[in-house]
Amino acid sequence: MSENKAIQSQDDVFPDPFYTLENGKIQAGKLAVIILGDHTGTKGLDHIKFHETGMDSGEHYVYDIGSEDVVKALTDYIGGAGVYTWSICNNYSRLLIETNRSEAQCITTHAEGVPIPSNVDITDEEKQRRIDAIYKPYDAAVQAQIKKVLDAGGIPVVVALHSFTKRFANLDRPEEIGVMNFGDKRMSKAMWLVSHSLGYRVEMDKPYDGRFVVDAALRRATEELLLPNVFLEVRNDLIDTPEKADLIAAFLSGRIIDAARDPSVHAPISSVTPTYTEFSADYFGRYFEAACRGERLEYGCCKCDPGPLLLPEKK
Ligand SMILES: [Zn+2]
Repeated sequence: MSENKAIQSQDDVFPDPFYTLENGKIQAGKLAVIILGDHTGTKGLDHIKFHETGMDSGEHYVYDIGSEDVVKALTDYIGGAGVYTWSICNNYSRLLIETNRSEAQCITTHAEGVPIPSNVDITDEEKQRRIDAIYKPYDAAVQAQIKKVLDAGGIPVVVALHSFTKRFANLDRPEEIGVMNFGDKRMSKAMWLVSHSLGYRVEMDKPYDGRFVVDAALRRATEELLLPNVFLEVRNDLIDTPEKADLIAAFLSGRIIDAARDPSVHAPISSVTPTYTEFSADYFGRYFEAACRGERLEYGCCKCDPGPLLLPEKK
């Protein structure tokens, strides 16, 4: 496995927005797995006066605990099984800039109710600087890699790897692995089918519903080209040491390969389910409010219910 730490950035305040890992060689007609570690990073906290928040820099929401270890181990395992693998890990905290949201929503003013001092009154210039230094290079690197795979005749499947807390506000979340999608269910369905009965509590569309996340990094990477993709959330108490992360990665790597080799995952689709903008607006805000009441905001329980979710159409 080779690691590229020397990502050049022109910005002297926010250098090196990410690093990438590569294992194997792209082969025409063969699978190529691309893994996004959107929330692996913790850099940039001083810049947002994080010490004033009263939060602990090692806690969830600053970053996704264990996700970097899982991304690294997945790259090892999947590449080691002969499937070309390329991964990207964000170096910066989502509190500095949230690459897993749209550009409009990429500055988080409140982390689960706690105001982030330097984000509440951010200037347009400062926001643009973070976008130019981190957000855009991250997207560009992913897009360039997808193009490289396609140009070489590889068959890309894109995976985002995140982690979540067992307890969120007053809500218990007993699921251990969440298999989520943004409307194109091909890969998430296959992933669930090959993993839900094998010792972990694997659930679809949990811990929250990815279909209402506007402009997640995985979505930006895959939607235009209609590439198969899956958004994985692992409960962070299962991956909070490198050894535990390795166990989960060993499990997930085999399941990702099994699912990605299912022909149905590569069946052509003509579009991805449209974004339900009305329901999506402040989806996480309402999810948090419901969790404070000990309830899980689920599809269909909300007044602005967007109607039935559509499956991707086959060509
Ligand atoms: Zn995350």
